[in-house]
Order: sequence, then structure tokens, then C-alpha cells
Amino acid sequence: MNLIFLGPPGAGKGTQAQRLTAARGCSHISTGDVLRAARIEGTELGKQAEIFMDRGELVPDDLMCAAVAEHLARSENQNGWILDGFPRTLKQASVALATFSGLGMHLNACVLFELDEETLVSRISGRLNCQECGRIFHESFFPPKKAGKCDSCGGVLFQRQDDTKETARHRITIYRAQTEPLIAFFDEKDLVVRVDTTGTQDEVYARVESALSDL
Ligand code: AMP
Repeated sequence: MNLIFLGPPGAGKGTQAQRLTAARGCSHISTGDVLRAARIEGTELGKQAEIFMDRGELVPDDLMCAAVAEHLARSENQNGWILDGFPRTLKQASVALATFSGLGMHLNACVLFELDEETLVSRISGRLNCQECGRIFHESFFPPKKAGKCDSCGGVLFQRQDDTKETARHRITIYRAQTEPLIAFFDEKDLVVRVDTTGTQDEVYARVESALSDL
């Protein structure tokens, strides 16, 4: 199954994509992770992206579309993929559809993660990521068993540079202006599946599974 995960930062797309990937064996393509890895490796993409990322702004469409097309072309997973955090603009959405059809891929659904703004900000500002395996925790809502260490691999947990309260609000504003119009874009194609992401990770996962089983 090929899915797009759409929704504001902090709504749980990354966490749920990790769980679904583990359960279904599909590929998880997170454009935020792709960019963070490119920064660490010091590639041209990483260098061009960092200024936008640190300000909580979107990286230019042409860079993002090229990076995603390359990942999809290399993906040979029979169980499909989840695109997490892409597309984020109307331009990216139309290029994405052209890329899928050029590669003979069919998009099954666009899963829309919905959550109120105050909860988004508190989820983002308490988020902790594992440096080794990328697993996501939260200092209050989903704390690791041992402070500062990942439950899965023991890796060190860190807070993303763009996960401050201030940057979170800015990223949400950008989401409303540039990404929210994609809901109507995919709705017209009858592809939107809505998921309420209030509650615990387990509760949200159950809703995602149930929404997908209805497809
Ligand atoms: P995320 O991990 O999805 O929250 O993304 C972190 C940051 O990476 C965003 O705030 C953007 O600066 C950049 N980014 C990730 N995906 C995209 C995209 N599809 N288009 C533009 N910028 C992106």
C-alpha cells in the first residue's frame, strides 16, 4: 500500500509511520529525516536545506521533489511506502502525482492527521529523538524507561534544533498557509482519510489501522 501522511508538525505522522512500517514491512520515507541525514553527511542537499530548516521554513520545491523522486525510484519494496512530510506545497503535490505515474506507482490514500494547535506545540516542544534508530519519545506523554536513552536500541536521545515552542508555532503557521490547501487537492481525488490524533500513541495507531482497513 502506498500512502501519504499529511498533517501539521507534531500531529504524530513520524511516530505512526514508524509503527506502521514495522508492522507492515513497507518503506518509510520521511523528508525531514532525509534532510537531517543530508546535513550530517554534509551533502549539497544538506547544505542548501539547513538555513530553511533552522528557521522552520520550507526547503525549496525543486530540491525536495528531486530528492523524493530519487528515493522512490530506488524503492523496490513490494509492501509499498509511506511518504511522511511530503508533499507540503501544491507544487510538490502535482509533481508527486506525476512522479508516481512515471514510476508506475499507485497512491492508495492520503492520511490526514488532525490535532488542535496547543497540543501540537506541547508535543513538539517535548519531543525527543533517538540519535541511532530515530525512534520518537516525549518527555511527558511518552517518556523513555531510562532518562536520555532509547528503549529500543539504547541510543542517546536528543531534541531537534527546530523543536522549540517558538519555531513550532512558526512551522504550524507555514503549514496552515502552504500545506493545508493540499487537503482540498487530495479530497477532490477522493483520496483523503481523516484520523483524529488526540490520545496515546496506541489509541492513534488503532485509529490509523482501522481507517486503512476500510480502504
Ligand atoms: P519534519 O521532520 O517533517 O518536521 O521536517 C523538518 C523540516 O525539514 C521542515 O521544517 C522543513 O524545513 C524541512 N522539510 C521537510 N519536508 C519538507 C518538504 N516536503 N518540503 C519542504 N521542506 C521540508
